[in-house]
Amino acid sequence: MLSTEIRKRFLDYFEKRGHTIVPSCPLIPPGDPTLLFTNAGMVQFKRVFLGEEKRSYKRAASCQKCVRAGGKHNDLENVGHTIRHHTFFEMLGNFSFGDYFKEEAIAYAWELVTKEFGLSKEKLWITVFKNDDEAYQIWHKKIGIPTERIVRLSEKDNFWSMGETGPCGPCSEIIYDLGKNFSCGRPECAVGCDCDRWLELWNLVFMQYNKDSEGRLTSLPNPCVDTGMGLERMAMVIQGVDSNYETDLFKPIIDALCNMTEISYGKDGKKDISFRVIADHSRAISFIMADGILPSNEGRGYVLRRILRRAVRHGHNLGLKKPFLYTLTDIVKDTMGDIYPEIKEAHPLIKEITQKEEERFLETLDFGLKLLSQEIEKIRQKTVHILPGETAFKLYDTYGFPIDIITDMAREEGVEVDIAGFEKAMALQKSRAREAQKAGTGILTGTDIYTEFTYRGEKTVFVGYETLETRSKIT
Ligand code: ATP
Ligand code: MG
Ligand code: MG
Ligand code: MG
Repeated sequence: MLSTEIRKRFLDYFEKRGHTIVPSCPLIPPGDPTLLFTNAGMVQFKRVFLGEEKRSYKRAASCQKCVRAGGKHNDLENVGHTIRHHTFFEMLGNFSFGDYFKEEAIAYAWELVTKEFGLSKEKLWITVFKNDDEAYQIWHKKIGIPTERIVRLSEKDNFWSMGETGPCGPCSEIIYDLGKNFSCGRPECAVGCDCDRWLELWNLVFMQYNKDSEGRLTSLPNPCVDTGMGLERMAMVIQGVDSNYETDLFKPIIDALCNMTEISYGKDGKKDISFRVIADHSRAISFIMADGILPSNEGRGYVLRRILRRAVRHGHNLGLKKPFLYTLTDIVKDTMGDIYPEIKEAHPLIKEITQKEEERFLETLDFGLKLLSQEIEKIRQKTVHILPGETAFKLYDTYGFPIDIITDMAREEGVEVDIAGFEKAMALQKSRAREAQKAGTGILTGTDIYTEFTYRGEKTVFVGYETLETRSKIT
């Protein structure tokens, strides 16, 4: 079953059961400045859950574009190292706004996974929040899951809150056991372990409490349901492949990379990480740009730039020393463009900007990498393996290395980075820049101008690359 079919079956299933199909909202959460990117299906329904907004329906289902590369949910560091985490992914979900609750939500999820998608019941495990006897009993008595395969987990995994206060409640997850070959091998490895073996497919959140400022929980008069299932993970299980990256969603990108590099995927663990990072990031940058963000030095634009530069660095690992990422945006457009037309529409711009960003970063990447390797080599001779914050800052400031590339490379060599020292050096430079501005220069570079425009909410045509070297004054 291809991913297109999985998406469709999910939405059809819930539509037949009285749910309104709601399109994905953009990656820049509309009207929610607290969030960097939309990171879950529930984001566009926040105000509905809070009772601040009424909709014409009480049941909804969606396939939501998500990015987890900053803020509360940040999977950037995981990408490439696990077989299941992405920066950009699609979350399928069903929602009840004070309509059905635990019993129906659990029955729907189980029927969909085992009947529609045909997953083998023996491979599935269930988790519930430790005190949630109600969910436990529904799974055991109504659905018939043996008690050995229902696990009670703590707040960390199975209690969800919208914020410090407000709606919250226990979760229940459907986990797929990928088998011993995927285990981290530690004796204590079991459901709840962070390794790839226990693949979290679907999370059901039961919003049944309101938390006040003292942390007291009171029951909500109309409890709600919010669920999220990762499309790429479901595709991996249904298609019987070994990682999200071998599903039809990613395979064309990985294949193109193999052609470009003349290296096979699946032969060398370290190179495979680079393959996965690049495949993931090529999608993320396309989707982020399609929703109106362009590379810059601040905020969302900087998250985008970091993702892009990280992909370029991993390309370098695979011997790609010239711009290459921009050609992968063609494949992203071909695989995703029918479902997400915005990717097609923005494609010429996405491709051009990616190429220019690559060219620009490649000008300094070689020097920066040499400097970083030399520094790491020096540090490895010492007893304490810490890269000084000053050095990290020089790489950032002079060579355009985002801090996560520095920590990533250092980590590969067993070296830590003095992040506090890096931040201190950065703060010092910022205060110098502020002083200079006070003194009346008031000049900003092209990218800064762009960021300013974004923050003012004005629609801009990106001319940064043409004007980058021209210094202008913001009025
Ligand atoms: P994990 O524990 O695997 O990191 P999570 O608990 O952070 O997942 P949720 O916030 O519960 O994930 O999101 C709901 C579902 O979305 C998950 O069950 C999973 O299927 C999917 N999902 C979450 N994060 C990612 C990601 N970074 N890449 C791909 N799919 C994801
Ligand atoms: Mg997570
Ligand atoms: Mg989890
Ligand atoms: Mg979860």
